[in-house]
Amino acid sequence: MKQMELKALAKINLCLDVLGRRENGYHDVRMVMQTVFLYDNVKIERKDEPGIELKVNLSYLPSGEGNLAYKAAAMLFEEFALPGGVRITLHKHIPVAAGLAGGSSDAAAVLFGMNRMFGLRLSEGELMKRGVLLGADVPYCIMRGTVLAEGIGEELSILPAMPKCTVLIAKPPVSVSTKAVYEALDAKEITEHPDVDRLIEGLKEQNLKKIAACMGNVLEEVTIPMCPVIEEIKQVMKDAGAVNAMMSGSGPTVFGLFENKDEARKARQMIWEKGFAKQVYVTNVHNARRR
Ligand code: ATP
Repeated sequence: MKQMELKALAKINLCLDVLGRRENGYHDVRMVMQTVFLYDNVKIERKDEPGIELKVNLSYLPSGEGNLAYKAAAMLFEEFALPGGVRITLHKHIPVAAGLAGGSSDAAAVLFGMNRMFGLRLSEGELMKRGVLLGADVPYCIMRGTVLAEGIGEELSILPAMPKCTVLIAKPPVSVSTKAVYEALDAKEITEHPDVDRLIEGLKEQNLKKIAACMGNVLEEVTIPMCPVIEEIKQVMKDAGAVNAMMSGSGPTVFGLFENKDEARKARQMIWEKGFAKQVYVTNVHNARRR
């Protein structure tokens, strides 16, 4: 195989709870992750000359070792002493530093693609073991779907697939550092934990309203005071008819779940008009596993 084109899909967190902090700075989490149909395009081409060449459409992103896609390729070249090289072309659509695991998903796509391209025959589990060395969300991005993530996010259990619904994703033009959010969280007491088990019950019952009612993200308590626009976007989504709206990951992206696509479109229009966010996408949950 000389070249492959892959979709690196974004994730949202339907629930995000933090249970504690490890000595190495990582946090023990309990999260329900969901893949959405918003993606970066990742093209991988084999070349005879050695080396990894990475082209990214966003000039402010690293195109060398600092890029997770590059790191993923370098890891496989080193471990398996692969012949020749690769050219990776990354076209980003997933908002960056947004809580949507864009970089992790690019890395997952490179691991998955190169495994096929070079005939490495690594199982999904073997790919995931390598993925976690690049980032805690990479194993999930390899797996995809509706998944309970525990440990530092790498202990994964498949859950019943999320019922079909429209997902509105809005990334306000503010940056938050995941590290800063977790550090601020360490300094305070978490007052309210989401009911992850009840949300899982909702998934088993395929009850969107129950799932929506159980959504919760402990990081909102930290990020929203830094970026109040998050709360304003949530309110616009709820007023427009979302069954619920919440921040994804450490933010600042907000997503809303809608039963009615027109209502999601209306909310998108209002978010644009109010100037709360420019990057706003109407999409849906994506439950297909990788083949
Ligand atoms: P998470 O949800 O896992 O916290 P995120 O959405 O917050 O992820 P990313 O978009 O993955 O964050 O990127 C965070 C930082 O990682 C960026 O500021 C960027 O400098 C760096 N980075 C490295 N590789 C990539 C990549 N392929 N795409 C985006 N960012 C990357």
